[in-house]
Amino acid sequence: MRLPSFPGLPPLAALLALLSLAAFAQRVAADDTSEAISRLQAYIQVDTVNPPGNESRGTEFLGKILADAGIKYETAESAPGRGNIWARLKGGRAPALVLLHHMDVVPADAKYWDVDPLSGEIRNGYVYGRGAVDTKGLGIAELQAFIALKQSGKKLNRDVIFMATADEEAGGFYGAGWMVKNHREAFRNAGYLINEGGSGALIGDTPVFRIEVTQKVPLWLRLTATDTPGHGSSPRLTSSVNRILRAGNRIAETQFERRLIPPVQAMFEASAPFYKGEMSKKLANISENVTDNDFVTALRIEQPGSAALLSNTCSITRLEGSNKINVVPPTAAMELDCRLLPDQDPDAFIDLLKVVANDPNIKFEKIMAFTPAVSSTDTPLFRAISATLDSNFPGMKIIPSVSTGFTDSHFMRDINITSYGFAPFLYSEDAKPGVHGNNERINVETFNKGVQVMTDFVMRFATEDK
Ligand SMILES: [Zn+2]
Repeated sequence: MRLPSFPGLPPLAALLALLSLAAFAQRVAADDTSEAISRLQAYIQVDTVNPPGNESRGTEFLGKILADAGIKYETAESAPGRGNIWARLKGGRAPALVLLHHMDVVPADAKYWDVDPLSGEIRNGYVYGRGAVDTKGLGIAELQAFIALKQSGKKLNRDVIFMATADEEAGGFYGAGWMVKNHREAFRNAGYLINEGGSGALIGDTPVFRIEVTQKVPLWLRLTATDTPGHGSSPRLTSSVNRILRAGNRIAETQFERRLIPPVQAMFEASAPFYKGEMSKKLANISENVTDNDFVTALRIEQPGSAALLSNTCSITRLEGSNKINVVPPTAAMELDCRLLPDQDPDAFIDLLKVVANDPNIKFEKIMAFTPAVSSTDTPLFRAISATLDSNFPGMKIIPSVSTGFTDSHFMRDINITSYGFAPFLYSEDAKPGVHGNNERINVETFNKGVQVMTDFVMRFATEDK
């Protein structure tokens, strides 16, 4: 996934975040440090660039570490080379916890990097490499916590499942989506899951953690118009191209109903104290301001990602007409990347789009659609995350967040597993642009602290009486 920029983090706060990070970071035991860091470096060196993925190299790497720790695991390939791996520590009857991450990474162009993108090299206190943040860093933190739990010898109140999947960067259909369909037994009794999608940033002196509870739902559509073809020199009254342009124009100019869903309201209100002046007031009162056109327009200019959380949206991204300048084609097509609020029924939205397009000669096809789902914050898992962060980052604040992008969590919410985007890393802002971009990297201290926090969280959630 793309790591979204922190909603509303003003540039000054970003600067302060940068300056105060070093002062805030805490050290952990030296031996833990070297093991987790060297595992992260080695994991980055495993080439799982997707396409093509080759995640079976990742399952081999992780499997060896699990085996060395005396933990049994299973693997399954969804296609040749597309590995998935999972392991389970047995516990009591409470709903099981899944620690999920994806092994695949997006490509990196070495010529724009300061180091080899698959080197895992440490420079100036950072581990560099594709996947350092998205999501091999999280994966190693989960792995270290999982092994520490096993080695603690403690009696567990619930099963804990470590799972690493293929293909997230291309939609997860060979990874998490495939696992849900073909290896449902891996999720037996699973009630809770953590995955990528939320992390921390310092705003001023305050550590602020976003925990992703839901995401907008992609609905990718192809619209095809049909009409009589002919010569460009003799235009008819109607044509496929004119039909698609007219429909596209209507869709582009439609402001879909603005409405505030509870998770977005909670997110905006919790963000308000980190803004100044008028913006802070508007966000604190978002339920009144959601229909204020001036405010929403300003928000759309400054932070299109935040504004997008106030309605369903559609971006027209592809257009196809004739392949010859003088031929009026029999069909013309347009593709739409629509993102729906997580409670929106996709078919009802398509019906609405048909009304907007208002043309019986246009056919609508779904290219990709997910089902809507939200994870409530009123759960033992949310409370355990919150208690863990409280004791590790005094004075921290949580913003339950809604993501405009998507991760594998939607597959898990579909099978009724409460899923949160939660990575225990308190990033400095300068580390973020590297995700899917150049010089992806994670600060060594940030990472080590995160490993310690993840271990603390897993111990807490899997060993406390419930
Ligand atoms: Zn990712």
